[in-house]
Amino acid sequence: MIGVVKIGGAEGNKLGSLMSELSARTARGEKWVLVHGASGIMDRLCRERGVEIRMVTSPSGYRSRYVGERERELFREAALSYGKMIQDTLAGLGTSSEIMDPETTEDVFADRKDILREYSGGRTRILRGNYSGTISSLRSEKINSVIDRGLIPILPPLGLDSESGLSLNIDGDRLAASAAKAVNADILVILSNVPGLMKDINDPASLIKKYSSEGSWEKLEEYAVGNMKRKLLACREAFDLGVPNIHLADGRVPEPLKKAEMGDGTCLTL
Ligand code: ADP
Repeated sequence: MIGVVKIGGAEGNKLGSLMSELSARTARGEKWVLVHGASGIMDRLCRERGVEIRMVTSPSGYRSRYVGERERELFREAALSYGKMIQDTLAGLGTSSEIMDPETTEDVFADRKDILREYSGGRTRILRGNYSGTISSLRSEKINSVIDRGLIPILPPLGLDSESGLSLNIDGDRLAASAAKAVNADILVILSNVPGLMKDINDPASLIKKYSSEGSWEKLEEYAVGNMKRKLLACREAFDLGVPNIHLADGRVPEPLKKAEMGDGTCLTL
């Protein structure tokens, strides 16, 4: 059994329960890849260093961060320091892991999105000089060899731009989807600060428990706004890539993986 789990990067995300569960599961012989975000630490670094945080909503409603040259360096620092925090937490539980920095592992590649479109006040503006990217390819050899050594590979939300050799900010949820395909995962769990996809974001009882290929994807998409839109896009990509079990689940609970497997979140199955 091999699984991929993505944990959000928002500050206040509780690492403890996921890490103890991952540690216990790897000790039992399960294989897991851990993907993480970096948004919270990035926001804090920006505030500390006096860099403006600039979030942009595209005409199709996707929110993303504008990443200039300065932000690119800060994002890399934020991602790697959060990875180190995760690694130290796992080490404290007796579990070894390896941070997969694409600048050294050359496993995750991205195409730079130099231009961002910002929709605001009924108008679309073009922002140039952006340094985020979308995944162009993911080589699984190094990730697999880390897993085979009994370690947990930790994937930061970074992808190597083969043109410039720089690592770019990429979306962690979509990285998790690509990683799940690359390692042939049986399960992908995307954890965040909500119980899953809800019809009404203010009503946990409106949680959508199940989606399978007979359902209407468009209907599902109608419910997602803001950051959930991109999470759902990542699920769609994983679904299309043939990942058999995909869960959008709550990361704030004890044993979040077990809860997800038991169907506590939103479960998408082929
Ligand atoms: P993370 O940083 O943990 O990856 P995000 O903040 O990116 O998490 O995404 C989760 C957020 O998506 C929730 O906090 C919630 O505000 C938002 N959201 C938007 N629409 C929905 C929905 N239909 N169901 C659940 N959450 C939603």
